[in-house]
Amino acid sequence: MARRRRAGGTRRGGGQPTPGQVRFPSSRRVEPGADGHDYEVRSVAAARAVKVYRCPGCDHEIRPATAHVVVWPATDAAGVEDRRHWHTSCWANRATRGPTRKWS
Ligand SMILES: [Zn+2]
Repeated sequence: MARRRRAGGTRRGGGQPTPGQVRFPSSRRVEPGADGHDYEVRSVAAARAVKVYRCPGCDHEIRPATAHVVVWPATDAAGVEDRRHWHTSCWANRATRGPTRKWS
């Protein structure tokens, strides 16, 4: 088999974007939810939190300028439409946050 050698380098790609990594920077990750399903978790910086959200973990408001996370079902392509905003600590403690509560 021929060996490919990367000698020289007049054809540098110039950093091609990796598919799927373009729209979501490094803050994106997948974690199991309290129900065992996988969820996409994305951090929201305080500077980007400009609205009031209701945290399904504690049923309290997430005030503007509060760093938190956005979570949605990773297994469903349309899951992002059903995303929820959680306090970072509530999401971290979701296993003890009463998964019987119905999100609404
Ligand atoms: Zn909360």
